[in-house]
Amino acid sequence: MTGATSILMYHSVSDRGGATAIARRDFAMQMRVLAESGVAVLSLDDWLAAREFGHLPARSVIITFDDGFQDFAEAAWPAMGRHGFRPIVYLPTGHVGGEEGWKGIARPPRQLMGWDTIRALATEGVLFGSHTVSHPDLTALDPEAARTELVCAQVAIEDRLARPVMHFAPPYGLSSPALRAEIARHYRTSVGTRLGEAGAGADLHDLPRIEMFYFTDERRWRDHLAGRGGAYLAARRLARAVKAGLMKPWAGL
Ligand SMILES: [Zn+2]
Repeated sequence: MTGATSILMYHSVSDRGGATAIARRDFAMQMRVLAESGVAVLSLDDWLAAREFGHLPARSVIITFDDGFQDFAEAAWPAMGRHGFRPIVYLPTGHVGGEEGWKGIARPPRQLMGWDTIRALATEGVLFGSHTVSHPDLTALDPEAARTELVCAQVAIEDRLARPVMHFAPPYGLSSPALRAEIARHYRTSVGTRLGEAGAGADLHDLPRIEMFYFTDERRWRDHLAGRGGAYLAARRLARAVKAGLMKPWAGL
């Protein structure tokens, strides 16, 4: 696929386990293999500019983190910076400097980075995007409350970092066509949790991502980066759909 981009999704890099944590060793392997693969690793800003000018590489990778946990600063960034990668971290601004306090949290709850750390990382080249204020399911809010979440989080980060905030990630990856239209009024891009690669013409406000806990096996990750991961992703997508009850592949058998 020309212009195929893998947008990697991470939450936490930590050895404490849990569904959204990647062990430090696995993360270091993923970054090393990525560096060795020769695939272009772009910041979301650079990717957007390349796309606008029609200069997207044949294959590229963007690295994203949701939630802004403290272990981003302590474990993830040190393992990434040495490769020159420039990730984006999506912040739920109401929880910055505190701990996670939303549906599906880990026990004990994990600490989020504070503004001093975030400011320092921004000067080192980390991009920051918005993940709302309070980390709600936006699809459960009325339009005005959802709009407030979108606007207030953007303003909060822009005030603290004195730079424009153009990128958004809805909590839990949940949005709707109406919400995506509202998001598009405030942000240049929005990512979801739909599993797949982004093609050159992908909808900028419904960008798919790749859950990196599917790629803790080194060979599988290498294969994906070499463009041989299509069948595996398709199988994971099917497994997800079955789990969600969206599809019954055995129907009619
Ligand atoms: Zn989140």
